[in-house]
Amino acid sequence: MHIPLLFEKSRSGRKGYVLPKLDLPEKDITELIPERFLRGEPASLPELSEGEVVRHFTNLSQLNYHVDKGLYPLGSCTMKYNPKVNETAANIAGFRDAHPLQPETRSQGALQLMHELQELLAAITGFDAVSLQPAAGAQGELTGVLIMKAYLAAAGLSGKHKILIPDSAHGTNPASVAIAGLTPVEVKSNSDGMVDIDDLRKNMDDAVAGMMITNPNTLGIFERNIATIAELVHDAGGLMYLDGANLNAQMGIVQPGRIGFDVMHINLHKTFSTPHGGGGPGSGPVAVSEQLAPFLPVPVVIKEGERYRLDYNRRQSIGKVHSFYGNFGIFVRAFTYIRMNGAKGLRRVSEDAVLNANYLLSRLKGAYKLPFPETPMHEFVLSGDYQKEKGVKTMDIAKRLLDYGFHAPTIYFPLIVHEALMIEPTETETREALDAFADAMLAISREADENPDLVREAPHSTPVKRLNDALAARRLNIVYKEEEREHDG
Ligand SMILES: *Cc1c(COP(=O)(O)O)cnc(C)c1O
Repeated sequence: MHIPLLFEKSRSGRKGYVLPKLDLPEKDITELIPERFLRGEPASLPELSEGEVVRHFTNLSQLNYHVDKGLYPLGSCTMKYNPKVNETAANIAGFRDAHPLQPETRSQGALQLMHELQELLAAITGFDAVSLQPAAGAQGELTGVLIMKAYLAAAGLSGKHKILIPDSAHGTNPASVAIAGLTPVEVKSNSDGMVDIDDLRKNMDDAVAGMMITNPNTLGIFERNIATIAELVHDAGGLMYLDGANLNAQMGIVQPGRIGFDVMHINLHKTFSTPHGGGGPGSGPVAVSEQLAPFLPVPVVIKEGERYRLDYNRRQSIGKVHSFYGNFGIFVRAFTYIRMNGAKGLRRVSEDAVLNANYLLSRLKGAYKLPFPETPMHEFVLSGDYQKEKGVKTMDIAKRLLDYGFHAPTIYFPLIVHEALMIEPTETETREALDAFADAMLAISREADENPDLVREAPHSTPVKRLNDALAARRLNIVYKEEEREHDG
C-alpha cells in the first residue's frame, strides 16, 4: 500500500497558514542576522491547504495503533488511557508558554507545581526527597546509581563497585549500571520466579555497592522475600535501588521507601498516565531516603516561607542530568492525574490494575502455558511453548493479534521465559474489552491447531505486512529526496 507523502500532494502556491505581520523593519533583520545565516532561496517545503494537512495526519493516525484506539497490553509499559483533562491542564497558557529562563519571581506557579509534585511523589513512595529532572526511567536509573556511587564515595567506600541485578531485569538496568561506571552482576531467579536467595548470598561480598531490583518484578510477581533481600544487601554495606516501573501495582498499598529501599525512580509516563511511546517525552523522577538527599541533581525546588526557589547551592550534588529542570509539560499532566484521583483513587487504580490482570490470566491460562504459577500483580507472563509445538511462534501470535484489532503484548521478554508473552491490561480497560482481547487470544490458539499457516503469515489486514524491524531501526530513512520520488514513480 502506497501512502502518499505530503511532498507528493504538494501543489505550488497552495497555502494553509497566515503568518503574523513582521514586527521589525525588514532592514533591521538583515542587519541583525549575520549574512551566513540568511537563506538565499525559500526552503523546499510541501504546499497544501489546511484541510489537506488535517486529513493527511488524521489518516496516518488511523493506520497506526494507539491507546486512544484500543487496548494496548504491552507488558511493563503500563499503556493506560491518558485522560484528556491532563492535556487541558498542560495547555494552560501560564504553563504552556513559560520560558525556562524566566526569573523565579515570574515562575512561582510553575515552581509551586513542581514542589507539590515532588511532595506527592514522596508521599506515594514513602521517600524523603525527590528530583523531577531525569527524562525517562532509564535516565532515572542512571541518576539513582550515580547518587549511590556519590554516597558511597563520600563514606570512603569507593571500592564498592558491584550492583546485583536479577536475571529477570529490564535491559536498561545493567546498561545504566555500566554507564555509571559500576559492574552489573546477575542474580538467578528460583522456580517461583523470585530472587534465588542462595544465589544472592553466593554473590554477596565487600565489593557489593547495592542491588537494583524491580518489584513486582518483570514477571508481575511480588518478591515475597524483599525484607530478607534488603537485609542481606544492607548488611554488606550496600544500598537498595528499586526500578519503579511497576509502581502501578502498589499505589496506596505499599510504600517502597518503607520496605527496605534507599532510592527508586518513577516513570511518570507509565504510572501517572502521561502519553508515551514513539520516543517520548517521558519523565523519570528519582526518590531517595534522607541520607541520599544531599546527592540529588541540582537544582532542587525548595519552598522558603511562601516563595518557591531553585536551589543550586548543594555541595554534594551529582550535578545536572537534564537541560533546565526536566520535561515540565509531563509534570503538569502527572500532577493533574494525581490530584484528580486523590489518595483513595490511586489505591483503586492499583487494585483495579491487579484485578484486571488476574481476570485476564484466569481466561488465558488453560490455552497458554503459565511458566510461574504464583498469583501475579498488575501483569503476567505466559509462554507460547504449546503453540510453538504446532509451528506457531510467539512472534506469529503477536502479528495475528493485529488482524483482530489489538496491539500485541510485549514479547520475548523477560528473557528467562521461553517464547514470552508479557501482558499488562492496566486498570483503564472494561470487562468487555478484556473479554474481547481474551477471545482473540483464544481464537489464535485454536487457529494454531487448525490452520497454523493463517497465523504464520499474519498480519493479513494491515497496510504493511511484516517489516524487517532490525533493518528499519539500523537504516532509518526519514529524509525526503525529490530524486527518489521520481525514481519511485
Ligand atoms: C519501562 C521500563 C524501564 C525503562 O523506563 P523508560 O522510561 O522506558 O526509560 C525500566 N525498567 C522497567 C521494568 C520498565 O518497564
